[in-house]
Amino acid sequence: MSRESSTFKKRIATMRWLLPLIFALMAIIYELSVARWIHDIYGDAVHFIVEILFFSTAGPFLAFLTLNQISRWLEEKELAESQARASDRRLASITSASADAIIGVDKRGKIESWNRGAELLFGYFAKDIQGRSFSSLFQAGTAVDVETSWLEEVALEEGFVRGHETVCLDFGGHRIDVEMTATSLRDDENNPIGMSIVLRDITNRKRREEEIRRLNASLNQQVADRTRELAEKLEELAQANSALQKLDEMRSEFVSLVSHQLRAPLTNMSGAVQRIKVDCSIINPTCNRMLQILEQQTLRLERLVQEVLNTARLEAGELILQLEPVSVLPVVQQIIDQVQARTDNHTIRLTEKPGLPMVFTDRDRMSEVLANLLDNAVKYSPPGSEVTIDVRADQTELSVSVRDCGPGVPEAELERIFDKYYRVDSSDSQIAYGYGLGLYVCRLLAEAQGGRVWAENHRDHGAVFSFSLPVWQGEHV
Ligand code: ADP
Repeated sequence: MSRESSTFKKRIATMRWLLPLIFALMAIIYELSVARWIHDIYGDAVHFIVEILFFSTAGPFLAFLTLNQISRWLEEKELAESQARASDRRLASITSASADAIIGVDKRGKIESWNRGAELLFGYFAKDIQGRSFSSLFQAGTAVDVETSWLEEVALEEGFVRGHETVCLDFGGHRIDVEMTATSLRDDENNPIGMSIVLRDITNRKRREEEIRRLNASLNQQVADRTRELAEKLEELAQANSALQKLDEMRSEFVSLVSHQLRAPLTNMSGAVQRIKVDCSIINPTCNRMLQILEQQTLRLERLVQEVLNTARLEAGELILQLEPVSVLPVVQQIIDQVQARTDNHTIRLTEKPGLPMVFTDRDRMSEVLANLLDNAVKYSPPGSEVTIDVRADQTELSVSVRDCGPGVPEAELERIFDKYYRVDSSDSQIAYGYGLGLYVCRLLAEAQGGRVWAENHRDHGAVFSFSLPVWQGEHV
């Protein structure tokens, strides 16, 4: 509040009491001196009393009301002015404290006001830049003239320009990316008097956008490269696939050749051998030896054909299993008899636990697995040694183990001997005839029936090969 207005207010306040008092005194004096004389002339006592009362109260009261109203108007005016001043101050402090550059430009384009944000952004002090042209903040050239006149035009027409991105120069001539909002200012008669311009530094944002653009471009390039590589790989894969299909067709043809063209002559050959053994009573010793060799080699070939066929069918998923509850011991005994008939050099012994359950299996496939393990035990153990078969079971699994008195299997190879075509690289296995398919077929057959097969070495000596099958959850033997 200014000092003059405060004094004036005090005076009005004093007058509010003083003036009615003076009026009242004057009225009383008037009534007691001048009016008394006039009323004496008229001799109207009633009129006199009424006048004395009226002048000494109504006049001062009216004066009091008038002054009181004036005093109230003054107070209201005072309050409005102080609120306006506070709002101006707030606005000024917001403007000056703003991190954005807020610039006032007159209608000739000259800079009038320049806040702290503008000082920090451009490096000019307000006193140095005020009065200079707003376009001096841009790089000189026709483009700038076009841009500033466009800015003025749009701001005048529409009242403001918002979010216009452009480039300014700071005190040191460095480029600053800014986002500009310009608002046209007008006086009370709606005549343009300039513009208020807010500039926000977006250099970092622009840098990040540029970075993202570059990353995107490089990503797109990488995606294009990978897509091309993928297409090439797909092409290679398609070629490899068609080669594989051809191979598969060849395999099928081979399997069919083996099964039809080799099995039949082999069966005939082994039948002929059996016939000679039974029918020809007189054979000289040399022929007898040759016959034995013939029988062994025919059997070996039959086994090879069987294993090749099994492998092909198992791998192609074409092997059909006839699963049924099977009593194990008769099958085991049958296989023992068959293998024993082929060897005079080994003794095969069966040990069994009583009360064995039945297994749920394919009888022929189980026989093949056992025959294979038994043949190996005979093949890889010294002549005259014993081969022991142990059959045992728990609630869920029945296992058959074949133990021999051979050299056993090196610990590191116990798993790998079940791989296709895998043979232990030792003199014994090199001497023994084989092609590394037997155990592989055993594994596939056991697994196809829900069982497993494994090898270990006996703590004394020799190898123990076992397979297990699921117990049939029905009646026991
Ligand atoms: P192979 O036709 O060579 O006998 P297998 O798959 O039946 O093929 O056996 C794979 C390899 O496992 C054999 O070459 C041999 O080295 C080893 N092997 C198999 N059974 C025995 C065994 N009872 N004792 C020692 N080694 C064995």
